[in-house]
This record gives sequence, C-alpha cells and structure tokens, in this order.
Amino acid sequence: MPTALKLYDNYTRSLRGFEALKAGAAGLYTCGPTVYDYQHIGNFRTFLFEDLLRRVLEWNGYEVTHVMNVTDVGHLTSDADTGEDKMEKGARRTGKTAWEIAELYTGAFLEDMRALNIEDPTILCRATDHIREQIEFIADIERNGYTYRTSDGIYVDTSKQPDYGYLARLDKAGLEAGKRVDLGEKRHPTDFALWKFSPSGEKRQMEWPSPWGTGFPGWHIECSAMAQKYLGDFFDVHCGGEDHIPVHHTNEIAQTEARVGTRLANFWMHGYFLLANDAKMAKSAGEFLRLKSLTDRGYDPLAYRYLCLTAHYRSQLNFTFDALDAAATALERMRRGFHALPAGGEPDAAYVDRFTVEINEDLNIPKALAIAWELLRGDVVDLRVTKATLAAFDRVFGLGLEAWQPKQETIPEVVRALAAARAAARAAKQWAEADRLRAELRAAGWEVEDEPDGYALKRR
Ligand code: AMP
Ligand code: ZN
Repeated sequence: MPTALKLYDNYTRSLRGFEALKAGAAGLYTCGPTVYDYQHIGNFRTFLFEDLLRRVLEWNGYEVTHVMNVTDVGHLTSDADTGEDKMEKGARRTGKTAWEIAELYTGAFLEDMRALNIEDPTILCRATDHIREQIEFIADIERNGYTYRTSDGIYVDTSKQPDYGYLARLDKAGLEAGKRVDLGEKRHPTDFALWKFSPSGEKRQMEWPSPWGTGFPGWHIECSAMAQKYLGDFFDVHCGGEDHIPVHHTNEIAQTEARVGTRLANFWMHGYFLLANDAKMAKSAGEFLRLKSLTDRGYDPLAYRYLCLTAHYRSQLNFTFDALDAAATALERMRRGFHALPAGGEPDAAYVDRFTVEINEDLNIPKALAIAWELLRGDVVDLRVTKATLAAFDRVFGLGLEAWQPKQETIPEVVRALAAARAAARAAKQWAEADRLRAELRAAGWEVEDEPDGYALKRR
C-alpha cells in the first residue's frame, strides 16, 4: 500500500493512523434507523458515508464485521428523555400497531439501502430482540453505583463521571449554571434515562418486565448493549450522524465506561448533515424527501449515491435538484464511458496508488472521483487497462458500473410486422396502403423513418 489509512477521530479531534485492534479484522458499529417512519435522503447520506468507510476498510484488506442496529423502541420525541415514544406515536398516526410499523419501515429501509448499493450489514440487530442484554447492562451500571431512581425511570448520574461529555467537549459547568426549572426529578441537565417506567394505569404496546418495574429501555442503552455483545468491550470504529455527538454517542460512552471502563470504540466518526434549502432535513419536521421522491421524478437511486460521493463526509451538503441533475448526468457519462471500453486488462498500478492515497486520506472520495474522470478521459493507452482500473475503483464507489447495461429498445413483433407490410406496400407502389400502415404504426406509438437502404423504427 502506498499510504496507510488515516481517519478523523472525533474523540481526539484529530486525524489518526488507523490500526485495527485485531490484525486484519475491523469491527464497525453504525447507528441505524429509528423505524417509526420512512428514512429521508439525509439519513441515507450518513448510511452512504458509512458504506464508503466500510468499503475503504475492505480496500485496505480488513475483514469488516459491520453491526447496525434498528431502533424499534425507546427513542423519545425529545433527546432529553421526555415526550412520547416515537414508535407509539407513529403507530397512532398510521392506525397500525407499533410492531407493524417497525416491520413496515425496516423493510422499506432495507429496500432503499439495496437500491443505493449499500452493502448489507454483517449483523442487523433490533433493540426489541435485545431487551435482556439491555437489562443486564443497566443492572451492572446500577451495581457500579452510577444510577438513581425517579418516579419515571432509572437515570445515570453523569456528575459521577469526570470525563462525561468529553466526546462533545460539553461545557458541563455552563449547562449546570443554565439549569432550567423543568429539570423535573433529574439531578443534572445531562443525566439520562436507562429505563423508563410505563405510565401507571396505561398499557403500552411495547413494554417489558424488569427488576425496576414494567417499562422500556432508554434510547442510548441499546447501542452500548448490542455493540458490546457483537463487537466486544472496545472495538475499532463507531459511526453515526453529527447530531449524535452531543447526546446519543456521549451517553453510549458514559454507559460503557460505567459498565466496563472503556470508551467503547477506538475511533468515533460522524457524517455531516444533508441540508435542504440550507436548513436541516428532519423527519420530525414533517415534509421530507425520501428516495422514492427522487425515483418518482425519474432519477436513478445511484444518481443520489453519486451526488454524495462529490462531497466530503465531514462537510455539510446542501441538496438541490440542480446538483442531483448534474450527478445524474455525470453518472450516465461514466457508465457509458465504462461500457464502451474493452474488457480483459489488469488495473494500472500508478492510478491505483494515486486512488489509494486519496481514499486513505480520511476518505477523500471527491478527489478519488476526479482521478476516475482523469483516467476515463484517458492517458492510459490500453483501454482494457482503463476499464479494469475503473472497475477496481468502483469497489469503493459502489456505482455498479459493471452491472449497468444501456437500455435496449425491444420492438414488439406486431410493430415489426406492420413496418414490413408498409415496406412491401411501398415497393409495390401502393401509396395509400403504405400511408394507412404508417398511421397504424403511429397509433401503436412508433415512427418509421425511411433510410437509403431500408427503414428505422423509433418510439414516438
Ligand atoms: P434516525 O432514523 O433519526 O435515528 O437517523 C438515522 C441516521 O441518520 C443517524 O445516523 C442520524 O444521525 C442520521 N441523520 C439524521 N438526519 C440527517 C441529515 N439531515 N443528514 C445526514 N444524516 C442525518
Ligand atoms: Zn446508536
């Protein structure tokens, strides 16, 4: 390899050389969807960044175990552990049960992921399938003396952890000073729920017995519990969107430190937001663009993937249809260029090295894309080499270049027969019959154009 892989770690706020904790293998945990609604294209920008990270790790020879959770319980409408459970609210909105909407939106999510050529996680785990692990986790934190009980749940006392909030560089003193009266029974503004009790006299659709009373887990505990179960006490990389830095990931770290004394992952990486009209795109804001909103307008899902390749993951990206148009055009050009090249070569070593330098510099995919265009424009003399090199690059880009085929117009048999009959009528100088057959072809949606040595059929 020409350069070692470097990644930006938000915990240390620095670019660090990546070395796997276990030789040749990388453990990757990415926070998955909350399945109370469809995912919007902003969410998919983060999942695309994580897919690129995984592919870059694979490019560097690591076997990646990628774990992604599905949040199907416990995420309250406010990150501060207040408000309704998003699942129960979604259930009421749609008239379905919470379990049904979890199933529906998980399915829709996976379908969109595949349409975007995002590799399936090695392990996809649902919060509701891991209630026992979460309860055991909470019990250990309690045993270690970090919790307290209020009338609505079990909370972490964040003042007991001197390092609390380090990931986000939280200004704890400032938060404490600005403490609002609506802290309720919470002792500190940053304290958060591990377990919430079902409201008394109310039967929730999703609730479980626990040593503390019937209820449901807080949002953050599922990720600590499942990450630890599948990847161990300390693994390589943990990812999510930038909004996870101040609360969700901060609390995942706090819980894990309280249980086993590690900060869970060696690298903490975050995808920066997709904006729409320069504002945050959020499901809770009502209107949002889904992948289907794009495909309904005739866009290929991979045009959106291409668009995301053009911006570095650590910068926000403002979505516009003009930008998507440009991405669609570029993708089409790249596909056609690739398709027209002859097969049978080997990748060009110098180009592969330059490409590796860029992707290993904290995933500089926009630069890597520029190298692909330089290659396509062609100073490599052997076009078979150009094709093989681009095919190699596409293991990271994931644009499906090799699978793509130009659309071939298939002309229905009846249309062929009509055109042949018209040609015969013309040859016999039966002009009226020839015109009648042309009209019949038009009615069927086809135009016939006479050429010097025959005719061509085109869709009208
Ligand atoms: P959620 O379904 O809300 O749990 O979010 C799924 C993932 O999308 C998380 O990693 C979020 O951080 C991320 N996310 C949410 N909104 C955006 C956005 N506008 N742009 C990029 N990522 C986002
Ligand atoms: Zn998470």
